[in-house]
Amino acid sequence: MVDQANTVDASAIRKRLEDVRERIEQACQRAGRRSSEVTLVGVSKTFPLAAVEAAYEAGLRDFGENRVQELEKKSAGLPGIYNEGDVRWHLVGHLQRNKVKKAIQHFDLFHALDSPRLARELDKRAARIDRVIPALVQVNVSGEASKYGMDPEKVPDYLDGLAQYEHLKVVGLMTIPALVENAEKVRPGFSLLRKLFDEYADQAVPNVDLQFLSMGMTNDFEVAIEEGATHIRVGRGIFGARNY
Ligand SMILES: *Cc1c(COP(=O)(O)O)cnc(C)c1O
Repeated sequence: MVDQANTVDASAIRKRLEDVRERIEQACQRAGRRSSEVTLVGVSKTFPLAAVEAAYEAGLRDFGENRVQELEKKSAGLPGIYNEGDVRWHLVGHLQRNKVKKAIQHFDLFHALDSPRLARELDKRAARIDRVIPALVQVNVSGEASKYGMDPEKVPDYLDGLAQYEHLKVVGLMTIPALVENAEKVRPGFSLLRKLFDEYADQAVPNVDLQFLSMGMTNDFEVAIEEGATHIRVGRGIFGARNY
């Protein structure tokens, strides 16, 4: 593998970041929202630490990875708040139970809680390091098109069941919609997630306090903002095309 670190174009990253921020601002205006309500998470998977550092220099403070090993490597170079740094690391991808022990030492927010067994394992491992893990429940809003995520109908019962875990704090919902050309096609899925969120938000369940909606990526983040996203996860829009 070539060392991509030498090929990072910091000024291109800065320009793309400015453009994304401008589009966030405009989407917020259309939706009557403040842009301070929307956290831009730069998804740096497959890109080198130098790319993350370029985005950091341009003011970005939230970064996302979908693999534990890559998260571990990059967060060693630029530590998250949990490790006394000044960025937040988001684990946005599926987490296998045998990687929980390592993962929870590196991220600040976990976006992909999607099974009872994973919740139990996270709670158990977090207790051992005396940590309370903030997590979002991943919901599959597009049927069979997505491999991971809970069925929307199962979400309320699942959230009720998480009340028992004192080392897990469920702070919101997340979704990855089916990949489509036309971003308008994902609007119904985002709107469904928002509805689930609103319906559950008033429930008084211990260890569950829904505040965040993580939805929207490079192709569809404006629609997600219009539908109420508090976290958008943008990779290519900031870092450029990925080589896979
Ligand atoms: C890769 C990825 C993203 C970013 O996707 P882009 O299309 O590059 O913006 C967002 N969320 C998750 C879970 C991802 O795996």
